[in-house]
Amino acid sequence: MQHRTQYISTRGGLAPTEFLDVLLSGLAPDGGLTVPADVPQVSAEVLESWRPLSYPELAAEVIGLYATDIPSADLRELTAAAYGPERFPAPVVPLRSLDDVAPGLGLVGLSEGPTMAFKDLAMQFLGQAIPYALARESRVLNILGATSGDTGSAAEHAFRGRPGVAVFMLSPQGRMSAVQRAQMYSLTDPNIHNLAVDGVFDDCQNLVKAINNDAAFKAEYSIGAVNSINVGRIAAQVVYYVWAWLRASDHLQADATSVPAAGTGVDSFRIDVAVPSGNFGNIYAGHLARTMGVPIRRLILATNENNVLDEFFSTGIYRPRSSEQTLATSSPSMDISKASNLERFIWALLGAEEFQRRWPELERTGVLDLSDERDRLREQFGFVSGTSTHADRLAAIRRVHTATGTPIDPHTADGVTVALRLMEPGVPTLVLETAKPDKFPETVAEALGAPQPVSTAVQQLLDADQHVVNIPCDPERLREIIGARALRR
Ligand SMILES: *Cc1c(COP(=O)(O)O)cnc(C)c1O
Repeated sequence: MQHRTQYISTRGGLAPTEFLDVLLSGLAPDGGLTVPADVPQVSAEVLESWRPLSYPELAAEVIGLYATDIPSADLRELTAAAYGPERFPAPVVPLRSLDDVAPGLGLVGLSEGPTMAFKDLAMQFLGQAIPYALARESRVLNILGATSGDTGSAAEHAFRGRPGVAVFMLSPQGRMSAVQRAQMYSLTDPNIHNLAVDGVFDDCQNLVKAINNDAAFKAEYSIGAVNSINVGRIAAQVVYYVWAWLRASDHLQADATSVPAAGTGVDSFRIDVAVPSGNFGNIYAGHLARTMGVPIRRLILATNENNVLDEFFSTGIYRPRSSEQTLATSSPSMDISKASNLERFIWALLGAEEFQRRWPELERTGVLDLSDERDRLREQFGFVSGTSTHADRLAAIRRVHTATGTPIDPHTADGVTVALRLMEPGVPTLVLETAKPDKFPETVAEALGAPQPVSTAVQQLLDADQHVVNIPCDPERLREIIGARALRR
């Protein structure tokens, strides 16, 4: 019988059990996160049978293990649209060797989508899957979010022109990069509403909270979110870990004209994957891929100066920090001190019962001391970690540029820094490229001592007309705008 994936809440309360229902809900009603009750498994034979597939075809297979309530023909249509030529060049996720930087080092190109960052890979799937889920129930959804840059633009580009969905995105006036602003504000689709708030990112988030706390308004206007805890995003992110292993091992399969010597064939091929991390969404998908049986030896977690996660993986002590204690760094998308997806991993680490016994300590004391589990983080779960600083970031951008002639973005540079520090001879080490350098030209220019030429695509984007409504930091004004523009059933 085919495996059916059911979902449960980390906190043990009632929660929707089917993928399509989980997709449309945020936190579980008990405040927990939904996780697959059992992680689906892939055998070496199945993995090998996926080798000839294109990225959209592979996505349908992998996501299909998590979305067992979507018929496979439908899922193939959803992934063909999400990862098709209108949005991504083939092969969607290119691998690039960095052997000239360090033998065995490589980059997994996750930033080929419309907003030049890895969030497109998950969000474009949601842009197809959410309208599909809504249509089954004749529902509409008004997505309300706050962004400091990457998530908002990825969401807008995924949902622009999609049926049954509107996006209301709050951004802090004058606090995003020129490219990020242009990516959002240049859109002209009638279902995309850019609202620039007179305030900082926290003010934007507080406005979203004010609306979310108003249950009647929320229900009347079908308000929802697509944040980094969304299960659909996680499932879509598992795909590129499988893809990366397949592509990194292609040469072994192609060379296998004679029987390989013991320990040299594809059967014993393992990779290390380095992941620039903030909310623990990207690397949690790597943990799922590894648990499924994809031959990933270690997951190398890289943080910037906001190194709560490095602290957790090296000591076993999780001590989230407040927004006042969070530094503004030159890899801004990782300026996070409370990793919203970590709860899912700690649930897997401790098991349901122990998790539910220990987790309340975090709420009570602000700290969760799991130092007893420290060795298992590495030995059983394959996690190692490190911190990268501004100086490390600049050095990594320079080093890759010198060796290859092309720069990398500051977040990817954090991944490269920590990968270079922790990689081991003989194990291919793939760094996930989480954004294009064009998106963060100031830091790249600082590293290389001169501004880089602006690509034609980026110049066109910067030159386009912008559409944004400026609003004060006032929930009443936000209610008025949503009231006037929201989609209604
Ligand atoms: C979101 C983001 C990250 C962090 O990913 P998480 O899933 O939050 O850990 C890293 N780099 C870039 C460029 C991002 O946009």
